[in-house]
Amino acid sequence: MVQATALPRNEAGIDTAIGILKQQFGDRLQTGDAICEQHGHTTTWITNQPPDAVVFPHSTDEVAEIIRVCAAHKVPVIPFGTGTSLEGHVNAPAGGVSVDLMQMNKILAVNSQDLDCVVQPGVTREQLNTYLRDQGLFFPIDPGANASLGGMASTRASGTNAVRYGTMKDNVIALEAVMPDGEIIRTAQRAKKSSAGYDLTRLLIGSEGTLGLITEVTLRLQGIPEGISSARCSFPSVDAACQAAMMTIQFGIPVARIELLDAASVGACNAYSKLDLPEEPLLLLEFHGSEASVIEQAETFGGIAEEFGGTGFQATTSTEERNKLWQARHDLYWAVLQLRPGATGISTDVCVPISRLAECVTKTQDKATELGLMATVAGHVGDGNFHTLLLIDKSNPDEMGKADDLVGWLNDLAISMDGTCTGEHGIGQGKRPYLQKELGPATRYMKMIKATFDPDNIMNPGKIL
Ligand SMILES: Cc1cc2nc3c(=O)[nH]c(=O)nc-3n(C[C@H](O)[C@H](O)[C@H](O)COP(=O)(O)OP(=O)(O)OC[C@H]3O[C@@H](n4cnc5c(N)ncnc54)[C@H](O)[C@@H]3O)c2cc1C
Repeated sequence: MVQATALPRNEAGIDTAIGILKQQFGDRLQTGDAICEQHGHTTTWITNQPPDAVVFPHSTDEVAEIIRVCAAHKVPVIPFGTGTSLEGHVNAPAGGVSVDLMQMNKILAVNSQDLDCVVQPGVTREQLNTYLRDQGLFFPIDPGANASLGGMASTRASGTNAVRYGTMKDNVIALEAVMPDGEIIRTAQRAKKSSAGYDLTRLLIGSEGTLGLITEVTLRLQGIPEGISSARCSFPSVDAACQAAMMTIQFGIPVARIELLDAASVGACNAYSKLDLPEEPLLLLEFHGSEASVIEQAETFGGIAEEFGGTGFQATTSTEERNKLWQARHDLYWAVLQLRPGATGISTDVCVPISRLAECVTKTQDKATELGLMATVAGHVGDGNFHTLLLIDKSNPDEMGKADDLVGWLNDLAISMDGTCTGEHGIGQGKRPYLQKELGPATRYMKMIKATFDPDNIMNPGKIL
């Protein structure tokens, strides 16, 4: 495991704050080792740093009360959605109180005429989409995990649909949040656009719980398209698939999804999701529009794919076939883990300008081979974002060292290509040194913002900066 640095603990403050909160929250505050460990350790390769207590609020007022008590005693507060973040985001390096928002999971309003909705932070993306389906609406942001919308806003998440619909930064209209002193604020009204002052909505989005705790999210919704088609095509190399993806975007085809899987990922999908795809690099696409236009878009893509040596092009409008393919894509992480049972998965997350994508992916594959690491590649290639999933025996220091080398090398490579060390997972603990490399002097202004909002550094300390 990568060792996370511990920060000084305020033992007396922690004991006092937990004592006060225990009286108010009773069984909704837990201090058992297992539950605390579970709230520090998630799907990450960074060492577990459990909080001292986990509390389950039901309302914004309860969150405000928790934060006021913690602020009064200078005790860390670590917001917790579903714990699927990948960079040690929910660890508690200075101890403190994890605020688990799973019981704040009400859909408060759906304004279908305005194409928006208001949800509590613990609502998950699948829960919301199941609720919306009968109204002909959907929310497009779909990280591989069934994450909470509060967590997704806090990590500025995206997923397979981002190439068409953008990321959380494009799909959140307003937030309600409890700030580090316990004050409750709204960052905007429900109007679709606004020029009113500093954009606190976008400042809180991606702030990973370090500036405030989000207690309500107002989201932009989409109508379920009249026509949806999906297509798949195999390629002789990952490079050819990336070139075809770039050409598709440059051609202006309004793809809703364009996903790359390398041959090993395809093999993993076949085994895990009972598919029989050719075990070659694959592009998986989806098109949204009128019934006629989605067929036309798929055909245009088919022509482009052919130019890059694409084979086995197939398009379908069958809902069942589509769902099967996309479910397999969403299960890819778990499928790849089965390629080496018992191994730990380490996901990288760089994003580069699309013109550099093919080179970045190919160099990464070569580097993994050179280091003798087992690695697969998959990505949201329409955005230039891809993940290398390393399968590592974490009890083997040599492998862990090489994995660390590859992650660092890749982050540096992406930054050197005018890209970023994280397209969607966020900084957490793991990417902090790379944020500094990527944005240099800008991080000084980030630190000033953090110090102004949270002078006692109680909100998710040790993350981002
Ligand atoms: C298999 C798998 C696939 C994934 N695929 C993708 C993907 O395609 N795209 C992508 O973007 N991510 C992906 N992720 C990463 C992860 O799902 C996202 O980062 C997600 O947004 C985290 O949401 P969560 O509810 O689990 O948040 P958590 O992990 O619980 O928290 C994440 C961060 O947000 C903070 N936080 C949580 N809730 C709040 C709140 N209400 N207010 C303030 N701060 C809060 C936490 O303190 C923490 O810093 C994947 C993860 C896995 C395991």
